[in-house]
Amino acid sequence: MATLGCASETKKVIEKYNLSIQKKFGQNFLIDDSVLSKTVEAAGVTKEDTVLEIGPGIGTMTQYIADSAGKVIAVEIDRMLIPILEDTLSSYDNVKVINQDILKVDIEKIVQEENGGRPIKVVANLPYYITTPILMRLLESELPIESITVMVQKEVADRMAEKPGSKDYGALSLAVQYYTNPTMVQIVPPSCFIPQPGVDSAVIHLACHKEAPVKTVDSKFMFAIIRGAFAQRRKTLSNGITNANLGITRDQVVLCLEKMGLDPSIRGEKLSLEEFATISNLLYEFTH
Ligand code: SAM
Repeated sequence: MATLGCASETKKVIEKYNLSIQKKFGQNFLIDDSVLSKTVEAAGVTKEDTVLEIGPGIGTMTQYIADSAGKVIAVEIDRMLIPILEDTLSSYDNVKVINQDILKVDIEKIVQEENGGRPIKVVANLPYYITTPILMRLLESELPIESITVMVQKEVADRMAEKPGSKDYGALSLAVQYYTNPTMVQIVPPSCFIPQPGVDSAVIHLACHKEAPVKTVDSKFMFAIIRGAFAQRRKTLSNGITNANLGITRDQVVLCLEKMGLDPSIRGEKLSLEEFATISNLLYEFTH
């Protein structure tokens, strides 16, 4: 049974190990039982599942996941936390801790070795300083992942679910919506963590699509176009793509926009995922 989801137990662990909390690793430990339970519930974790947890910290969320899952693989970068995890997770026989950087670890190998290549679920209270690189890695590597349920800064969760036309709509929104169906689970105030972060947080559930919602000739090429389109937000889409070093001329972009019935001076933030797929398919013909 999970024991760490409260302030008093978390403080006991911090004191017992004289733990100095590492800001540089984005360490904010959860202390709220209901937030933890609701996160694992939203992830739909069952005893059939192998879960990849990113950044177990002192093992708080790990305990909740391990109570529901068949197996938990927890990847933690901070080696000072490893002996603590051995202690706080000692009563669980279904948890394996790996002391590595999630941006470097071979996730494919983990899925093969720990789950016979079958899809896993990802559940985490992510370190906020690398939220986007972690999510982009999980999404773009097209690994067998069924869903991703993560605590992030609320502002980042909002961006993931954003629709065209909003100032927060961008490359992250498009990647999340191309690969998954996002749903907001809960808003979490700073008081649910030790130490308290300076911003509100949110748990978001990303159910990975079995099939992409739009057809692309080459999804990597589409994301190169998307990155170009949002690299300079105040520029027009045609200037953004032209400057992205993809060997595409401004005239080619304008021609495609006209073919699509769109204004040649349109900005990237106005285009839907479907329109990005269409324009990248048209541009692909010019460059390949
Ligand atoms: N899961 C714990 C909880 O909810 O209380 C801790 C979450 S804390 C926000 C983020 C955790 O990610 C920390 O334990 C931190 O050391 C770890 N972390 C930071 N960067 C990491 C990386 N590149 N790879 C793996 N873990 C990382």
